[in-house]
Amino acid sequence: MRLVLLGAPGAGKGTQGALIAERRGFPRIVTGELLRAAVREGTELGRQAARYMDAGELVPDDVILGLIREVLTGESDADEGFVLDGFPRTLAQAKALHPLLRGLDHELDAVAVIDVPEDVLIKRLTGRRTCSRCGKIYNIYFDPPAVLDECDVCGGELTQRKDDDPATVRRRLEVYREQTEPLIEYYRTTGTPVVTVDGNRSIASVEDSIERALAS
Ligand code: AMP
Repeated sequence: MRLVLLGAPGAGKGTQGALIAERRGFPRIVTGELLRAAVREGTELGRQAARYMDAGELVPDDVILGLIREVLTGESDADEGFVLDGFPRTLAQAKALHPLLRGLDHELDAVAVIDVPEDVLIKRLTGRRTCSRCGKIYNIYFDPPAVLDECDVCGGELTQRKDDDPATVRRRLEVYREQTEPLIEYYRTTGTPVVTVDGNRSIASVEDSIERALAS
């Protein structure tokens, strides 16, 4: 199965994408993670991407398309299927994906949309903290650590992703509504099956709904 996960930042695409991919033994292609790794490593791609990411803006399409082309053609496991998380995010990216997949003798099987109300998204994103030592993720509203800013597991300092500050979160959500949400309608018109699930529930319930929707 070749699946695109759509949803606003904070909708749970990362969590659900990992579950779907793990269950099937498929790779996940997560552009946000690839970009953050490039920023950490200080590569040319990372340098180009960082200023857009920090501002909550999208990295230009040509940069992202170069990255995705490289990953899809180099990912030998992707022949059986894959989960795309964070790509495509613009109409231009969605349109460029078709010939790219066709060139690899693939096509998209489905698009799953995870729907979450805006006020919940804001709390999920602005409340997110990550342990700088072990990587465990907390949320100060929904899953706080016992001691403020300190990891329960290893005592490491909890940090906030630069793009999770309130102003940048507002911009990321605006960018999603303006540039990415229209892809739902676009995929409907191309005839790709689109399933929408309510993402404002437990991880297991959302997973169950996605699996049922994909099976039907
Ligand atoms: P994410 O972790 O998916 O929210 O991605 C973090 C940031 O990476 C986004 O706010 C964008 O700046 C950038 N990014 C990730 N995927 C894309 C994409 N497909 N197109 C443009 N920018 C992207």
